[in-house]
Amino acid sequence: MAPLPEYLRLGKGDTLPHLAAPEVVGWETTLRCNMRCRHCGSTAGDARNIELSTAECLSLCRQIVDVGIPRVCLTGGETLLRPDWRLILENLLVGGVEVGLLTNGWLFTEKMLKELAAYSEDRFYISISLDGVDEVHDGIRCLPGSFERAFQGGLALKEIGIPVAVITTMQSANLDCLPDLRARLFEELQPYCWQLQVANSFGRAVENDDCRVNQVEYARAAVFACESRRLSKGTKTKVYVGDCLGYLGSLEGGLRDEPWPGCQAGLELIGIQSNGNIKGCLSIIDDRFVEGNALDEGIRKVWDRAGGFAFNRRFKVSKLRGVCAGCPVGERCRAGCTASAVSVNGAPHEAPFCLRAVEEGKLASAAKPAAARGRAAKRKRRQYAESRASR
Ligand code: SF4
Ligand code: SF4
Repeated sequence: MAPLPEYLRLGKGDTLPHLAAPEVVGWETTLRCNMRCRHCGSTAGDARNIELSTAECLSLCRQIVDVGIPRVCLTGGETLLRPDWRLILENLLVGGVEVGLLTNGWLFTEKMLKELAAYSEDRFYISISLDGVDEVHDGIRCLPGSFERAFQGGLALKEIGIPVAVITTMQSANLDCLPDLRARLFEELQPYCWQLQVANSFGRAVENDDCRVNQVEYARAAVFACESRRLSKGTKTKVYVGDCLGYLGSLEGGLRDEPWPGCQAGLELIGIQSNGNIKGCLSIIDDRFVEGNALDEGIRKVWDRAGGFAFNRRFKVSKLRGVCAGCPVGERCRAGCTASAVSVNGAPHEAPFCLRAVEEGKLASAAKPAAARGRAAKRKRRQYAESRASR
């Protein structure tokens, strides 16, 4: 076998190589939030029982710099509620890290905008969550006036020279309103990037049926994303789709510039929770996927640990289940988004949504009633936990 390039590592027993150091970290700085969004997979609101102190956050910043991680996305909860958000941001920027900050935009007061303006020369951008226009967004976010405040804040940020991106979570409750949002974005806000994704079945989304999508709505969301990418040509906005949409079917060329490469959790990226716990990706809410702790053990040790991130690093085609079993592109796709699979099926390696599987007429099992899916997920969670425990 040809030697691996210098930037890749293949641990003993691994089937897939990973980067020598993660390229991106999603850092949940706090679970505290000033909103109670109906689709929130993390059930954000109150802080976790234990969250990193300022000193611990600064120590984590040093680790990120020392390990050589080039990009961090600060998320929550709502990072701007942390009194020390500027310290965290500055320590990363000084270390040469590019920083994105994801916010719901409620705190875009004049004072806050002035504080943010101090970073307009830095490698720093802000992503704002917008899930519709006016009362549709406000209804999902359970906060009247939240659309207007976030939208106007986005315009103000652009005025002061901070690049603005928008993230939209498509769900049953906002599908009809998405063309209106698109018009407002392309014509008024003109973010440099618009990411379209669908909600996973975690957290509050589990209780709120209209905050998820069914199979038909999933396909509709994908078609909307393709159409938006086409219509964005000639605008200032580049449209991307989240990892939850795909995979490798006839719409793939319309969804992505490059075909879906498979989930990169634990291969190229990690997520760090506000208590320091490390996962392959923050979107995998299930705590069975905690690989270690950034403060107790350190990012380097967790990243290099033999047998870590096994759901991806030790992937084998024989692990594929459900509609993914026997899929002709299964080796490359690895069952789409791990978070999505875990959220619906209780374990990785079985995609609950897949446009290719729909085209091949293989998605009948995913159309089972919610109660049956819930029972199956519980059973699979138990089986998956047992198989991990016996490794
Ligand atoms: S069936 Fe599964 S493995 Fe095949 S393309 Fe769809 S998600 Fe990927
Ligand atoms: S779990 Fe999903 S969102 Fe996270 S890296 Fe994998 S594909 Fe992307």
